[in-house]
Amino acid sequence: MMNRRQFVGAASAALIARASKARAAVYDLIIKGGRVIDPSVALDAVRDVAIAGGSIVAVDANVAGDATQTIDARGKIVAPGLIDIHTHAARSKEGPPMALLDGITGWVDAGSGGADNIDQMAAVARSSPQIGRVLVNISRLGVAPGGELHDINLANVALAQGAIVRNRDVVIGVKARLSENVAGPNDLEALRRAQEAAAPFNLPVMIHIGQSYSPMRAILSLLKRGDIVTHVYAPAPNGIIDDQGRLYPDVQAARRRGVLFDFGNGVADHFDWATVERSVKQGFWPDTFSTDWNVMSKTTGVVDFPNVMSKFLMFGMPLTEVIARATVNAARVFPSFDNRGTLNVGAPADVAILELREGSFEFLDSYKGTRSGRQRLFPAETVLAGKRVLRA
Ligand SMILES: [Zn+2]
Repeated sequence: MMNRRQFVGAASAALIARASKARAAVYDLIIKGGRVIDPSVALDAVRDVAIAGGSIVAVDANVAGDATQTIDARGKIVAPGLIDIHTHAARSKEGPPMALLDGITGWVDAGSGGADNIDQMAAVARSSPQIGRVLVNISRLGVAPGGELHDINLANVALAQGAIVRNRDVVIGVKARLSENVAGPNDLEALRRAQEAAAPFNLPVMIHIGQSYSPMRAILSLLKRGDIVTHVYAPAPNGIIDDQGRLYPDVQAARRRGVLFDFGNGVADHFDWATVERSVKQGFWPDTFSTDWNVMSKTTGVVDFPNVMSKFLMFGMPLTEVIARATVNAARVFPSFDNRGTLNVGAPADVAILELREGSFEFLDSYKGTRSGRQRLFPAETVLAGKRVLRA
């Protein structure tokens, strides 16, 4: 039962709604009738998304009013633009527009560049159509084919800090690759130096794990709240599970104190199905998904970000949680993405329209292991800052 006061309030709200409809709001774009999945506000429902001035202005069951353009999204998923926190998109100016076609409206290049070559990566980030940011490699060389940390003198704190100062607008963290084929026995010292470089700027450190010289426990003990572990399911030696397949307690302890764990698909040695399976059976899922993408990824096990996300549908993760890990969870890792990864009213109108197809789809791990799943997300269309992204 409404009392009189509530009734008056409801009536005037209805009047205001009618009056605003009479003004026939004009939008730049309405994405009509899609299944809107926006984990940032726990929304999963058929909705229209109205956009004006580059921002989301309404998400409603039926948005009235004219729009300059309309996208018919019936039968498709309308999600916040995807944010990929481990890519190598800054290696060339061709990278970011390619990633955009896969629904990626925000990316982080994770350590392609070090002090010697970060300026060119930063320039690519600044000229990217979508928001692009970079992590500076603690090795002055950046990612180097034979391994950039075999000579520990390449991990030069002063040079890394200089790189950050020169590119404060786009450098949002420090990267260290700790595999034995990259760092040999220098992994812990390289990580200490990465922390030292990042500390005065209050930036996080992202580490790449897998087949390291030092045990996981020693590596994790150096990480702080907000630091990120990528390639979380890298197999032994020195992964997150022991020889009996049990998750090391140190891993859960690190998560409890705020260390983040990222999938980081990549190409070689970064994950195998057995490690994923053992970990998720013990309830250990990644906080974020990422591709470790580069311009060659179409022809590797990455293919595209929605393909990487689909691997976790195969392991039984609910679709809304899969999308959360590629949107709002990723946005929360770095303050640069504060208002992204959401379709909430007022947010930049970055949207990934995806198609969820049923069938039989084959997925690859880093060792040519295949598993087949019954669902696969495909990129259908991207909207960036309220504008449709056209395929060349
Ligand atoms: Zn990488």
